[in-house]
Amino acid sequence: MGSAGDTEPPLQLQSKNVCVVGAGMAGMAAARELQREGHAVTVMEQSADVGGQWLYDPGTDGEDPLGATEPVRVPGSMYACLRLISPREAMGFSDFQFLPRHGVAGRDPRRYPVHREMYCYLREFCDAFGLLDAVRLNTRVLRVAPAMPASSTRQWAVRSVHLGDRNEKEEVFDAVAVATGHYSQPKLPSIKGMAEWRRRQLHSHSYRTPEPFRGEVVVMVGCGDSGKDIALDVRRAAKEVYLTAKSTEEAMTPAMSKMLAKHANLHLRPQIDQLHADGRVVFSDGSSVVADTVMYCTVYTYSFPFLETCGAVTIDDNRVGPLFEHVFPPSLAPSLSFIGIPRKVPIPWFFEAQGRWVAQVLSGRRALPPEEKMLRSVEEHYRARDAAGVPKRYTHDIGGVEPLKMYEFGEKYCDFRRIEDWQRELILSGIAGMSQDMENFRDRTDDDSENVRKGLQRWYGLAAPAQAQHDQTVSTKDHIHMAAAEVEVDVEVQAMAELLVN
Ligand SMILES: Cc1cc2nc3c(=O)[nH]c(=O)nc-3n(C[C@H](O)[C@H](O)[C@H](O)COP(=O)(O)OP(=O)(O)OC[C@H]3O[C@@H](n4cnc5c(N)ncnc54)[C@H](O)[C@@H]3O)c2cc1C
Repeated sequence: MGSAGDTEPPLQLQSKNVCVVGAGMAGMAAARELQREGHAVTVMEQSADVGGQWLYDPGTDGEDPLGATEPVRVPGSMYACLRLISPREAMGFSDFQFLPRHGVAGRDPRRYPVHREMYCYLREFCDAFGLLDAVRLNTRVLRVAPAMPASSTRQWAVRSVHLGDRNEKEEVFDAVAVATGHYSQPKLPSIKGMAEWRRRQLHSHSYRTPEPFRGEVVVMVGCGDSGKDIALDVRRAAKEVYLTAKSTEEAMTPAMSKMLAKHANLHLRPQIDQLHADGRVVFSDGSSVVADTVMYCTVYTYSFPFLETCGAVTIDDNRVGPLFEHVFPPSLAPSLSFIGIPRKVPIPWFFEAQGRWVAQVLSGRRALPPEEKMLRSVEEHYRARDAAGVPKRYTHDIGGVEPLKMYEFGEKYCDFRRIEDWQRELILSGIAGMSQDMENFRDRTDDDSENVRKGLQRWYGLAAPAQAQHDQTVSTKDHIHMAAAEVEVDVEVQAMAELLVN
């Protein structure tokens, strides 16, 4: 036992050379935390800009609208009219809030803004913390594999190609954090007659605007939130839109009833039994329609075509594993990690917590349990999910199944503060609003509780001065970049407005 005057020896933190794959919300959150902890960070991003899904790409996988090839050529799945379904007040980085920019051209100050607003905000975040210097754009990662010869500490060889000059290179890193998202690679159903169907078939990954469907009969497979949202958009141009569901009773939420009652060209049918080469779509109740297009709104699957781990990390029915707390593969931890695997979590708050944990484990500030203990924890998680009847494909849905665990995650592993109560309340009231009225919930923001109103007052009070300081330091170059972005958004908004009046 030490005497009263003993002090702990100062912690010798190690700085690692870390590659982050992907410059979306998760990748940039991780990059910031890694830099903050003193690591040298290189972010490799295949697109021409940061933003991930929030970087709207009007182009699609034209040759492969179903996105059946892995990996898809175009990572973006965002459609032009998309407005966020989560409130901006709960969608900010912990120390750089997502404040509305009232009166700034091209910006959308609403609680549930258009997708471009999220992109602009992420750019501002990168500027504020000088992250762009660490990002290599137009750089696709082709292969991540253990570096040879193996040394006592595991390192990773990262092979990448610059998509401009096709120059390939291989570099060795102490650690790799995979942050490539999971909204790019379509998950397709298997329906009788799909292969014989000669008319248009696409996954919602390739949906951008309603115009290509003008005058068409469109059948949509799957009517989750994005299915409903897209149906409301495509119906503006299409002649008829048929949403289909496994159970029409379950699908008939108040939101669905309102949509069907309001729009005469929207219909709900049971799931498709068969597609016929002549264009007939037969539903499971025996009814049929002749359709021009079948659109699959059937979610996405995890995909890491560049990763070689000799079976240490596998994907089975949308379960990526084994991953300790959805982040570290026990046999390869901590040098390999995943940021952004969990679904239905508040972003970027949850990604920040994951990034901070990885950064602190790599530096030696925190330790992971031994490999066997991490594996046991993963197996317990699987068993608990099985016992609760949660299908394997929902392994990483933690927001809906274990919200408490999600909120405690940061505190438990890296002293990262929880999202506040009023922000949680705001998220939940958005979800409730969406199930009541998909079309209008985003604009009903006048019924905040007292708790939320007080939280908002504090939020503006704390966040505004910090952001004002940042605004003064944004460089002229960045203003030019944002101005160009604003012109684009204006064109987009105008196109939407024209569509709405037609
Ligand atoms: C239509 C749609 C609407 C959504 N609406 C909401 C919403 O309202 N609220 C909400 O919270 N979330 C929403 N989401 C989910 C949201 O997009 C994600 O939670 C978040 O953006 C995920 O960030 P990410 O960084 O993990 O992944 P992504 O944004 O997908 O970023 C991954 C990045 O990795 C890059 N990449 C992939 N492979 C490679 C490679 N081999 N080499 C180099 N780079 C690579 C990609 O180009 C991409 O930039 C929506 C998603 C979609 C598709």
